[in-house]
Amino acid sequence: MAACEVCGNDYDMAFEVRAAGAVHVFDSFECAAHKLAPICDNCGCRILGHGHETDGMFFCGAHCARVKGYTNLVDHS
Ligand SMILES: [Zn+2]
Ligand SMILES: [Zn+2]
Repeated sequence: MAACEVCGNDYDMAFEVRAAGAVHVFDSFECAAHKLAPICDNCGCRILGHGHETDGMFFCGAHCARVKGYTNLVDHS
């Protein structure tokens, strides 16, 4: 298998993730999240759930969207 493109670990259980037409190789979900997960534009945490996207900005939840003035977003849960 190929080496993880984030940490370089050559791991025989590495997996591929196809995103936006490119194929990425990772040895762990932690590395995949490090590379692919968007970052909340308010609190800076990595968004591993569905999150919200508006005006090209990502938010981890409706609370962070509201802090930035996007009051139209609501959590679906
Ligand atoms: Zn890795
Ligand atoms: Zn947030």
